Amino acid sequence: MSEAAWFDWREAPEGELAVVGDPIAHSLSPRMHAAALALAGRSERYRALRVPAGELARALEALAEKGYRGLNVTVPLKEEAFALAETVDEWGRRVGAVNALRLREGKVVEALNTDAPGFLDTLGELGVRPPGVALVLGAGGSARAVAVALDRAGFTIRLWSRNPARGERLLAETEVSAERLEAPRAAGCTLIVNATSASLFGASPPVLWEEATPGCLAYDLAYGAALSPFLREARARGYRIVDGRPLLAAQGARSLQWWLGIEVSPRVMLSAIR
Ligand code: NDP
Repeated sequence: MSEAAWFDWREAPEGELAVVGDPIAHSLSPRMHAAALALAGRSERYRALRVPAGELARALEALAEKGYRGLNVTVPLKEEAFALAETVDEWGRRVGAVNALRLREGKVVEALNTDAPGFLDTLGELGVRPPGVALVLGAGGSARAVAVALDRAGFTIRLWSRNPARGERLLAETEVSAERLEAPRAAGCTLIVNATSASLFGASPPVLWEEATPGCLAYDLAYGAALSPFLREARARGYRIVDGRPLLAAQGARSLQWWLGIEVSPRVMLSAIR
């Protein structure tokens, strides 16, 4: 009998590697990591485990007892994970959120943000380079990672979030210099990054697409079986589009390299989830 696609953390079987978050059923991480681990001739198992907000500390203790030592963290736990980590890399400290953890004795002994450098990896692959104006939508953990990465790379940044106070906090805490928009206006932008979780719920931020630069890239960090409403709208208007799969592959390859010291090309990981 084949194993379930995902487990609640309380019912997790023994294992070594996993992605934790909520919702988690849609995650392509297990498929992608299984392909990479098989290719590298490794026996570690990589699972998807549902951990709701507020339960991460208890879940980590239980998972460490079951043998887990490397975790990826997704919505909505990246900031909670940051607060639990004993040591955090430079990207993670600046972003204030982490997405890759190393566990020992039920504690997060080290944490990295591989979303921020992974995002820059994908922009390089897509041929999107500064200078340029980037509009970032959202103010959660991934919006923070994207804003810090774009700032470091030298883009001009505009930020829109439906909760203005959360957007203001993002800019103050990450020290990213950006114009905060009252409405998500795309005018003059060469890159629009949907870092909200709207697509996970079949919704879209209310982007005002008029006057985006021709050739503008609409980048949705989310991915799913069908195009998100955000990407459908961008494509209908003739803009280039990319979903969250390349970022998933880029941050995943960096995580595997860190946990196990194995070099796997993000392209190989991407081809497992296309
Ligand atoms: P968080 O829960 O930390 O933040 C979500 C953000 O989205 C908040 O700013 C929230 O606003 C906003 N939001 C949610 N729904 C809407 C809506 N309908 N309209 C406008 N804003 C909305 O999530 P993360 O930052 O961790 O993740 C965001 C997305 O990025 C998810 O879809 C996730 O799957 C994806 N992601 C993909 C990765 C990949 O590897 N491909 C890596 C990282 C993230 P508010 O504060 O008001 O609730």
